[in-house]
Amino acid sequence: MATPALSGLPKEIEERVVHDPIARKIMLIIFKAGTVRPKIGLETGIRYPPFEDLPQWTKVIEDLIRLKLVEKNVADRLIHCPRCGSIHVSSRLLCPWCKSFNIEPTFIIQHTLCGYIDTESKFRDPNTGQLICPKCKRPLRKEGLDYIVIGKVFECLNCKRKTNKPLIAFYCRNCTHQFDYLSASYEPVYEYALTPLGQKLVVSGALHKEEIINALKELGLIVESPGKEKGRSGIDHTFDIIARTPQGRVLAIDFAEEKDPSLAITSRIPKALDTEVDRYVIILPSGAFEASMMVQMKNVAVLELTEPYLVERIVSIAKELLKKEAKEVEVTAEAPEASEEEFFGLSGGELSIPEEELLSVSEEGEKKEEKEKEEGEKKEKEEKEEKEEKKGEALLGPDEFFGT
Ligand SMILES: [Zn+2]
Ligand SMILES: [Zn+2]
Ligand SMILES: [Zn+2]
Repeated sequence: MATPALSGLPKEIEERVVHDPIARKIMLIIFKAGTVRPKIGLETGIRYPPFEDLPQWTKVIEDLIRLKLVEKNVADRLIHCPRCGSIHVSSRLLCPWCKSFNIEPTFIIQHTLCGYIDTESKFRDPNTGQLICPKCKRPLRKEGLDYIVIGKVFECLNCKRKTNKPLIAFYCRNCTHQFDYLSASYEPVYEYALTPLGQKLVVSGALHKEEIINALKELGLIVESPGKEKGRSGIDHTFDIIARTPQGRVLAIDFAEEKDPSLAITSRIPKALDTEVDRYVIILPSGAFEASMMVQMKNVAVLELTEPYLVERIVSIAKELLKKEAKEVEVTAEAPEASEEEFFGLSGGELSIPEEELLSVSEEGEKKEEKEKEEGEKKEKEEKEEKEEKKGEALLGPDEFFGT
């Protein structure tokens, strides 16, 4: 099946995933991590730190598994206490006769010179620590030469009996319950990954589109998704999202599904050149920072799908466009109102003041705005970062954050 557009998604995925912020977040966390693995600690239990802040994530993730977007695989199995459920469980070796755990492994030695067999502890002189034969009283010299080790047994320090098959038991350090393997629960521990379908859903931008569209609409932009823009060549180019300002400036957004960032960029630049959209945002599944280095065009921004403030960054690009427009309206205050054609961005850009003048004004303003924006973003980012750090989440470095 071809890439599903937002409207072409199965209804249940649309309702259960696209419209649910928790489900979306889980998908993006797994997408970024590749595989989310359990963190197992005896006292802390089984944890999935990336999901911990998300309410009811275990239930949501089961839904995602049912929808075949996420798959779980057994990463391990753990013994749980059948009484309290804790995994803080130790193994114990028990004497099969008196059930004491106080048994000691020891070697069985044969003194080859006289043929006497006993445990190592019987040969060991308690004062010197030397091995002396209890029968013939001669010291043992070298294994293989005058004695051999013929096996290993467990000696019970409680009932003094020996065994080579101690019982295996488990002891819960949380509730002190001791149990054998038959009553132990031996539960799988899962790791989570996206299925190919889940992967496709993420890179298609389906999880982000709604949020981005709503944010742009809130700014007063007219949004279409997908949207068309006529190129100078006469070709209609399609973008995943087209947002138009009241004066007809165009912000175009594409979600690139290509794995190769340079291919994703080079295949889209001709579209930008032909249509002359005012701002073009290309969102890559990964490698946005490197890819942004390739782009020499000032109006093209390359962002990464999983960056924490993707929507905020698009909003600030849109605000920049609006601000620029507002300044120009001020400059052209005496000029007649834009015709309907200009409003929808269909005119050939006939402006009431010389284009040169307009450009110089807007560029100067733009520089200042960009500086202001960067400072504002920096501050905003620092504040958010502080917050995030408290949650113990890793964030992108400042370079990656600023992308271009
Ligand atoms: Zn227990
Ligand atoms: Zn001997
Ligand atoms: Zn015993």
